[in-house]
Amino acid sequence: MPIDASALESSLASVRGRIVRAAARSRRAADEITLIAVTKTLPHETIRAAYTAGLREFGENRVQERETKEPHIADVAATWHLIGHLQSNKARRAAALFDSVDSLDSLALAKKLDAAAAELSKRIRVLIEVRVDFAAAKSGIAEEELPDLATQVLALPHLDLRGLMTVPPLFGDPERVRPFFRRLRELRDELSRRLARPLPELSMGMSHDFEVAIEEGATEIRLGSALFGPRSL
Ligand SMILES: *Cc1c(COP(=O)(O)O)cnc(C)c1O
Repeated sequence: MPIDASALESSLASVRGRIVRAAARSRRAADEITLIAVTKTLPHETIRAAYTAGLREFGENRVQERETKEPHIADVAATWHLIGHLQSNKARRAAALFDSVDSLDSLALAKKLDAAAAELSKRIRVLIEVRVDFAAAKSGIAEEELPDLATQVLALPHLDLRGLMTVPPLFGDPERVRPFFRRLRELRDELSRRLARPLPELSMGMSHDFEVAIEEGATEIRLGSALFGPRSL
C-alpha cells in the first residue's frame, strides 16, 4: 500500500525537527545534513508521494528492485543512492540507474563501475563502505584496507570519491552505536589527511540512531521506517 500523503508530511516534519535539534546540539547547521529517503520494499507510488512532499534523495539497496520501479518514476528528478552490497556483475546496470554508489567495497567493483560510467559518459559518486564493527557487520571493508582502496579509487577517472559510509550494529540503545559513528569520522579524518584531499561526506545513521550519527558528524542519513513506517517485507 502506498503511503498516505498527510501521514508522510507529518513524519517528514517530525524527522526534520529532530534533525534540526540534533544539529543544534552539536553546533552544526541542519542544512549540512542530507536526508536520504530509503524506499526499498516500498511501491513506486510511495516514491512519488515522497518526491511531492519535497524529498529529493532516495536510497535503494537492490539494483533489480530499482529497475522494476524505474518505468513508473522515470520523470521523478531525484538523486539515487545505491546503499546495499553491489555484485560486480551488476555494475553496469547500477551505473545506469544510480547517481551514487554509497556501498563501494572492493577494487574489482570500482573498476567495473568506472568502466560502466565511462561508457555512459557519466561520473558516479562513490562512498567507501567501512565495517567499523568487524565482528558484527556483514558488509564493508576492514579499516586496514581503506587507505589502499581509496588510493586506487582516486585513480579511476569516472568515479568521484566523496567520503565513507557505514552500517553499524543494531542496538536498542542508540548511545551504544556512538563509538562506531565516531570511529568512522576519525577514519575519514585520517584518510583525508593521508590523501591530502577533502572527503566531506559521512553517510551514517538510520531511523533508530540518526540523531546520534548527526552529533558525531553525519552529513547524510538514510531513513526508511522513520519516514514511511515499518516495512512489511
Ligand atoms: C534499510 C536501510 C536503511 C534504512 O533503514 P531504517 O531503519 O528503515 O531507517 C538505511 N541504510 C541501509 C544500508 C539500509 O539497508
